[in-house]
Amino acid sequence: MSPSSGTEISPKSKISSALRERGWKGKQITEALLWEPEGDRVRCNLCSRRCLIPEGQNGFCQTRVNIDGTFYALNHGGVSVLGIDPIEKKPFFHYHPGTASLSISTVGCTFRCKFCQNYDISQEAYGMREVDSAEVARQAKRNECRTISYTYNEPTVFFEYALDTAKEALKLGIENTFVTNGYMTPEAVEYAAPYIQAMTVGIKGSLNTEFYRRIMVVPNPEVIKDALLEMKRLGIHIEMTDLMVTKHGDSIEDAQTLARWVFENLGPDTPLHFTRFHPDWLLTDVTATPVETLERAHIAAREEGLRFVYIGNVPGHPLENTYCPGCAHLLVERHGFQITKWTISGGACPECGEEFPYRHSNGSGEPELRGNPLLFGLTIPDGGLACDLQASP
Ligand code: SF4
Repeated sequence: MSPSSGTEISPKSKISSALRERGWKGKQITEALLWEPEGDRVRCNLCSRRCLIPEGQNGFCQTRVNIDGTFYALNHGGVSVLGIDPIEKKPFFHYHPGTASLSISTVGCTFRCKFCQNYDISQEAYGMREVDSAEVARQAKRNECRTISYTYNEPTVFFEYALDTAKEALKLGIENTFVTNGYMTPEAVEYAAPYIQAMTVGIKGSLNTEFYRRIMVVPNPEVIKDALLEMKRLGIHIEMTDLMVTKHGDSIEDAQTLARWVFENLGPDTPLHFTRFHPDWLLTDVTATPVETLERAHIAAREEGLRFVYIGNVPGHPLENTYCPGCAHLLVERHGFQITKWTISGGACPECGEEFPYRHSNGSGEPELRGNPLLFGLTIPDGGLACDLQASP
């Protein structure tokens, strides 16, 4: 009861108040998925923090709130960025190569990485525009995108919106990808699996526990392996990145340990991208990762038996390319996110016949190269919809 008026504050008013506090508008509320009551609190089982949240309080990610014992997601349909990227930017090199992916984000994150390049949407208040799930799917179709990627901020924190959108996309023949930090629970992976066909999992500092705790406020990164094993079990296409952070998370020994685990548990054909760190946000006292560090990590991962190891964020480097693991013939040449040469024939190496394991949709073994490259990289600078996209009728 309110001490001043004597009238009870309705759940609707509390929700409106929670939205106002964030500066968010619109119908962005939905009951959250994967939570349960626990005493007089609620337990969120979406990510491995498994927050236990008292009435009126937020989870760590700031996007979900307990109101009168029901757990709500506050960012359903609220879009911070909507643009079109090459699928190679996610990165996916073995999943619909050469296609366009409609890329969408909301706000919030389950991590607090000091070097986050998207901190304005992951950690700070940011404007959002309402775009319903069916409209996102229509935009993808009209702009010839083969996939929708839930990216830029962690998709676990907009799980409900992402899955509703993915369902609409699948009706139009469009697949869905998560670009995730991998901290989702195994039950969240299982829940998402019917709708999300591919996940690229962004590891940092080769999964070193001390690095995750000190730089990213993540207590137990080892659970990311449980999520990866669940993705593998459920047949989700997996690619992995390992951001090597200068001085803090750039151990070659750790990179080799990670590669060994990937080889033994996910298989030798799992693509692993060692990516270059650039100073940003709160971590600006170190330089970008020396290219030599990435090259040494590449050698270590190949020694462990991984067949497709790449270097990322170094445009023009020869290790952006795909080489046949059988005879070292150049299969795919890339520059940044663009494919500049494709020699694979019928899904195999033209020299030795070794099969190239990748998922594509046109059945020809050729890259699809669909979508308008002129639209790549559009964003919404002030919380507005990227209206340069082709409007739906
Ligand atoms: S998704 Fe958010 S509320 Fe749920 S456990 Fe993770 S940080 Fe906590």
